[in-house]
Amino acid sequence: MLILVINSGSSSLKYQVRDTETEEVLTSDLIERIGISEIKDHGQALDIVAASIEEVLGDREIEGVGHRVVHGGERFSEPVLINNEITRAIERLAPLAPLHNPAAVLGIRAITAKWPNLPQVAVFDTAFHRTLPEHVWRYAVPDELYSKFGVRRYGFHGTSHDLVTGLAADYLDVERENFNAVICHLGNGASVTAIKGGVSVDTSMGYTPLEGLVMGTRSGDLDASIVTQLIMREEFTAEEMDTLLNKKSGLLALAGDSDMRAVTDRVGQGDEQAELALTAAAYRLSKYIAGYHVAVGGAQAIVFTAGIGENSIVFRERVCKPLEVLGAKLDPELNAIRSPEVRRISTEDSAITILVAPTNEEAAIAGATAELIA
Ligand code: AMP
Repeated sequence: MLILVINSGSSSLKYQVRDTETEEVLTSDLIERIGISEIKDHGQALDIVAASIEEVLGDREIEGVGHRVVHGGERFSEPVLINNEITRAIERLAPLAPLHNPAAVLGIRAITAKWPNLPQVAVFDTAFHRTLPEHVWRYAVPDELYSKFGVRRYGFHGTSHDLVTGLAADYLDVERENFNAVICHLGNGASVTAIKGGVSVDTSMGYTPLEGLVMGTRSGDLDASIVTQLIMREEFTAEEMDTLLNKKSGLLALAGDSDMRAVTDRVGQGDEQAELALTAAAYRLSKYIAGYHVAVGGAQAIVFTAGIGENSIVFRERVCKPLEVLGAKLDPELNAIRSPEVRRISTEDSAITILVAPTNEEAAIAGATAELIA
């Protein structure tokens, strides 16, 4: 089935046309600066998409559209076929994802206006984490914050964590419902998820994607009083704090580079600032993995995925070293092999199997969309 996968941001639209039978990508592109260039809105961006798609389609037709939607709140635990009510529900979740959900709605409405008969499916980043138990999703704060403002742990990167859990269970030939693992999605944004019986039981991102690991430009975990104190002292406005923690922190703050490849290159040249950033990021993740190993009652696998997880030999090495106390042993030779396949990088006698598995959120969104439409 030919599926158009759309990831719309407030001023961008990323798309792919995929054949879900052959996994072939027919075309893909990113349109940027929507609203601040000659491309006035998402409707106009879609005209550009339509023209470029037409060139590659020949006599074939797109049969459905899959949208990446960041926030599904407490309602959406799986992909859904979009209608007006669903679109409004996604819109109503905007307070939880003020940048992302309104952008997704722009994309959905633009498609509806252009191709009203094309079925559309929403695939939510939060959905996979709807299985978190209450003692995990609750913050220890007054109930009013939850009941009035929806403050709870939601978790993100769900499409990727779900896909990679399946890949790893298949690779190890374990039934998914018997599979316990720790999945590390390490891209520019990064999160780690505890998988017990094939489902998410804990995850490092929380109410927003800010919580958890040291990321490219996000701080991850910190004392909330840092925010309140600095705002109370009028050193920063709330907006400035938000930008500071989401866009100017993490590796960027510690090393001056948000890109892991640049950081590890500098570490290789003996750069101390980069060394600190790498050590801080690796240490934070090792701690989470060890904690989640306990949370799942003993992980059968630790799985690395996304840009850093799939490619950074050095980062994997740093993260795994302290895990030797758990009996997890990385094989340096296997770790150094580059391959796009799911693969083991731990020794034969490692107590926990360490894997690298390629994520592919677009493929997963296209697959879910095709399945629902069929
Ligand atoms: P993603 O958001 O999944 O595209 O991942 C982006 C991150 O992956 C960036 O920090 C990149 O520096 C990192 N990355 C990609 N390739 C490599 C590589 N070969 N070595 C180290 N980091 C890499």
